[in-house]
Amino acid sequence: MPELPEVETVFRALQPHVEGQTIQKALYRSPKLRHKLTTEDSDLLNNKTIQFLHRRAKYILIELGNHEGILLHLGMTGSMRIEDHAAPFQKHDHTCLFFENGKRMIFNDPRRFGIFKYWNKHTKTEVQKGLQKLAPEPFDDAFTINSFIEKSKKSTKPIKNFIMDSRYVVGVGNIYASESLFRSGIRPTRKANKCTRKSLTALHGNMIEVLREAIQLGGTSISDFRTVDGSEGKFTQNLFVYGLEGEPCRKCENLIKRIVQSGRSTFYCPNCQK
Ligand SMILES: [Zn+2]
Repeated sequence: MPELPEVETVFRALQPHVEGQTIQKALYRSPKLRHKLTTEDSDLLNNKTIQFLHRRAKYILIELGNHEGILLHLGMTGSMRIEDHAAPFQKHDHTCLFFENGKRMIFNDPRRFGIFKYWNKHTKTEVQKGLQKLAPEPFDDAFTINSFIEKSKKSTKPIKNFIMDSRYVVGVGNIYASESLFRSGIRPTRKANKCTRKSLTALHGNMIEVLREAIQLGGTSISDFRTVDGSEGKFTQNLFVYGLEGEPCRKCENLIKRIVQSGRSTFYCPNCQK
């Protein structure tokens, strides 16, 4: 599943191809995504010019100006392509925006958990309300060490579940939660309120650092993630625990363990993480 760094990578790759482009025609090839796609909506996109893109949590917003836009979410398996008008369609290409410059933007999603939703001034508040409810991102000024420690001290959840809880901070998904905890030497099963101030301070910094690094390297290519030009994310080489069950720890050579927490795999080094 694309996490924040992968979405940011897609967002940055799309930006130069999409901003300022006029949509000659929008084509919805299949109605079945998380929200149903309708031709009434695709017709409303024709002849609109994309003003700018921005990202909030794992959403990409395509702003068309005049209180109109498209809300985009990659879901589990969504990907975007920019290609020539005449390129052949592929299986699971759901939406296609043909631009006036001869290029088109495709949204492909085999598992169909993604979102590609047109909004306008009538539905804007619904979209905005949803986005406003989101907790700060790790890079936001609002995500301070003190507020992080204060909230941790009130939670009896395992620390990994706590940092993945989008009510406190958004964008720390499964891969980056495991990696930040490894860098901080914290066992993922430790209760949030049982972590020391020192280790929570380290964790706060490491969450930000891991996500920054992953964005710089174009994300992590696990379960087929590819950016807009088809290239892989290079953070895969910086993984110390995620997906490495039974491999020797790169720091101490003890074997990496895998456990399941809230239905998700967690990887950690039993020696380095206490
Ligand atoms: Zn180790």
